[in-house]
Parts: sequence; C-alpha cells; structure tokens
Amino acid sequence: MNGTSSSQSNGVGFGQVAPPDSSGVSIIIVGAGFAGLSCAIESRRKGHSVVVLEKFKELKIISFGNNVGRIFERWGLHDRFWPVCTHMDKLVLHNAEGKVLVEQPLQSPRYGAYSYNGHRGDLHKMLFEHAQSLGIEIRLGQDVSEYWETETEGGVIANGERLSADLVVGADGVRSRARKLVLGYEDKPKSSGYAIFRAWFDCAEQGVDKDPSTKFMCENGDTFHGWIGPDVHFLCSTSGGGRKMSCVITHKDEADIEESWSFPGKMEDCLKIVEGWDPTCTALLSKAPSLVDWKLVYRDPLPTWISKRARLALIGDAAHPFLPTSVQGASQAVEDGVTLAVALQLAGKESVPLAVKTWEKIRYQRVRKAQLTGESNRDMWHKAKSDVKGEEVSMPHPEWLLGFDAEKHAYEVYADAAEEIEERGYELPTLPPVPTIAA
Ligand SMILES: Cc1cc2nc3c(=O)[nH]c(=O)nc-3n(C[C@H](O)[C@H](O)[C@H](O)COP(=O)(O)OP(=O)(O)OC[C@H]3O[C@@H](n4cnc5c(N)ncnc54)[C@H](O)[C@@H]3O)c2cc1C
Repeated sequence: MNGTSSSQSNGVGFGQVAPPDSSGVSIIIVGAGFAGLSCAIESRRKGHSVVVLEKFKELKIISFGNNVGRIFERWGLHDRFWPVCTHMDKLVLHNAEGKVLVEQPLQSPRYGAYSYNGHRGDLHKMLFEHAQSLGIEIRLGQDVSEYWETETEGGVIANGERLSADLVVGADGVRSRARKLVLGYEDKPKSSGYAIFRAWFDCAEQGVDKDPSTKFMCENGDTFHGWIGPDVHFLCSTSGGGRKMSCVITHKDEADIEESWSFPGKMEDCLKIVEGWDPTCTALLSKAPSLVDWKLVYRDPLPTWISKRARLALIGDAAHPFLPTSVQGASQAVEDGVTLAVALQLAGKESVPLAVKTWEKIRYQRVRKAQLTGESNRDMWHKAKSDVKGEEVSMPHPEWLLGFDAEKHAYEVYADAAEEIEERGYELPTLPPVPTIAA
C-alpha cells in the first residue's frame, strides 16, 4: 500500500526514537507555543528535520490532562515538571453563598498517567529548553508574514527570507496568519461572550497568609476552591506548597474583541461580579496586586485544517481554539503535534500530503468532541441552581479524553485511515454528533 506503514521511512514504532534526520522529511514549524514545540519534539524523535520560527525575541496556570501527561513522561520531563506543579488533592466547589456543593478528589496519576498543573511560563520554558536540548533549531525574532505552497513543498516568508520544506506547520495561535492559506480568506475569531479576570501573585507578599478570611489557602499546602453562580465561576488555587496564588474568574462580557482582547483589568469591575456572594470571594480577589482582563475568543470549527495541496497543516489554537473550561486547549495542541509527527514518519517523504490528510482524519472528530466540553463544563457551572447536587457539578474526567495515548493511537489507526483516503479520495472531515460529549 502506497504511503502507509509499508513505506514507513525509518522503521521506528510506538514509543521509539529514530536517529536524527533519518526520515528525510523536512518541516518548518511557525510558532513556539505548546503546539509548535510539541510537534517539533515528537518530529525530532521520529527522525524529521525541523526548524521552528517564533516571532518573540524572548520567551514570556496551565493544566495538562493525563492524556498529555503520559507523553511528557515518555519525553523524560516528569522530574522537571512535577516539582513546579501544584499538588492539590481536591477541588472544593461552593455555591455563590459559600455552601460547599462538592469536594471532588483530584487524582494524579489517573488512567496510568500524571496530569500537570502549573504556571504557564514555567512549563513552557521547560518544554522550550527540552526542545533546544534535543538540538532542534529554534529561530527567535522571526515574524512569518506569508505562506505559500506548490505540489512538492510548503513555504513561508520570515523577516523577508523565503524558506521551504516538505511541510509547513502553522502553530501560530488563535490569531493565525497561516489560516488564510488554508481557508482562502481572512477569518477572525469571534467573542465567546465571556471574559476572564486573572491574577497570579505571591501569598506572603499580598498578606493572604495573615488575613483570617484567606489564610486557609496557604495553611495546608496547595489548595483549590471554586465558587459558581449564574453565568460566573471563580477558581482560586495555590501552588508551591501554598505560596503562590492563582485567581481566575470567568464572567459574561460582550466587549469588542477587535480593539483589544488582553489588557489590565480594573479591580472594581472584578469585585462587582462577586457582589453579594460569599465574602471570602471578595477577600481573596482583593489580594491581587493587579489583574489581566482576558476576552475569551472562540471560532466555529474550521471546515478543514489543511491547505489545498496539503503542504500546510494548522495545529493547536490556529486550527481550533478551546475555551479554558475544557482544560484541554494545550493538551489537544500537544496531541496534534505528536500525531502529525507519527503520521509523517509512517508515510515518509514521498507521501507527505497523504500523511497530512490522514492526520486530519485521525484528529478532527476527537478534537471537536474535546472542544465541546468547554461549553458543557461552563454551562454545567453557570446554569446550576444554588441547591444543585454535588455530582451534577463535578468536573468530568472521562476515559475517552484522559485515558488516551496520541502516539499509540496514531500507530494503531494510521494504516487503515490512509488506505481509506487512497481508495475513496480525500473528503472534508465531518463533525461528530453533539450528544457524544457526555462523559
Ligand atoms: C485564559 C486561558 C486559560 C487557559 N487555560 C488552559 C488550561 O488550563 N489548560 C489547557 O489545556 N489550555 C488552556 N488554555 C488554552 C491554551 O492556552 C491554548 O490552547 C494553547 O496555549 C495553544 O497553544 P498553541 O501553541 O496552539 O498557541 P500559542 O500558545 O498561542 O502559540 C502560538 C505561538 O506562535 C507565535 N506566532 C504567532 N504568529 C506568528 C508569526 N507570524 N510568526 C512567528 N511566530 C508567530 C506566537 O508568538 C506564539 O508563541 C487557556 C486559554 C486561555 C485563553
């Protein structure tokens, strides 16, 4: 069979690492976020030659589910990630009046793998350093302005320089420029109707540990509490053994995201949201020295993530931004990158477009199903009655989502999926039926 496992370029399989540059496939990855870095790392492991272009000159609480925890562990990152992560044993969820609705245990490991919850900058820096340690070429200060493709290669213009490879991966985030080549037109993200005030600060510096109404967040190591009310949820957690605090409050906001979608927030606007709520919410939020007002953008599913000649693939937020309530945006970005690297290895240099089409077929429905959990989780909290039963507002941890192994799955299904495309021709992916989101 052409281009499938029989033409596997360098003979490595699940969990194995190929010699550098042994597959013959060359890839340009635009964006060194979680999607781009993960694609680069797994591509390196599978023997592809990779260049990452990132526009930042330097680098600036994210959660990774068990589905990606198992991948980070396979990459040897557990001992670095674990010490900087939060270690909360449960989420204590309250209603707006402060009554405890549920104490939900947060096991890690679960489904045979750890989850990692930590400061986005810390974990991103470690992933970046890991990519560098593997010898991956990451060029900073590279602003990619144009994308193009021919039958045989994909290319970009970065800082005026024309570069090409077998494949270009657009991992350039929610405001992706790469998307234009895929869609043929400029498609802007839309407002989700919600925004988040976020804060991250040192508990001792802000007196959280001294105030009798807030010191419960520091006294017993890492602690995680949430409050839910109509159209609002407020999550507050500590890490570093109760030393650093994260506050995240999601609320209705119809502001124009064209103007700005991340800027300093005003404390009075934030406190207005919890007016009349359990006074602990005000006490905790007012400890924040500053706030970020983050407008949550969203987009309807793209009809496809790949360009006409399949020499450009969009991954991560460039293809499918997630709402934070799914707690899966970054994890799915990592799964995208890992799956793509495996597909390219199995297809080999001569069949890159087939690899890309097969990758989309493998990923599309799973990603959409995961993406919809952002809406269902949010609505579960925002529409809950104040006397709701605990189990009705517990965060779902479904096995289909968290027990998944993207690398293993890619090896298992690639050949059949590729064969189907070769026999029937490429078809645009179809969306899963909405009811399948149930945990
Ligand atoms: C408030 C909030 C909280 C979240 N919390 C979670 C969570 O707890 N768990 C979770 O899994 N997900 C969470 N997410 C989602 C998660 O952050 C994203 O899904 C994930 O970071 C996407 O990674 P990415 O690499 O696709 O995009 P990005 O992280 O946006 O990376 C894109 C990269 O491309 C670069 N770039 C862009 N344009 C160019 C260009 N023209 N040239 C060169 N480089 C370029 C950018 O500088 C950037 O480094 C959250 C999102 C938000 C908004």
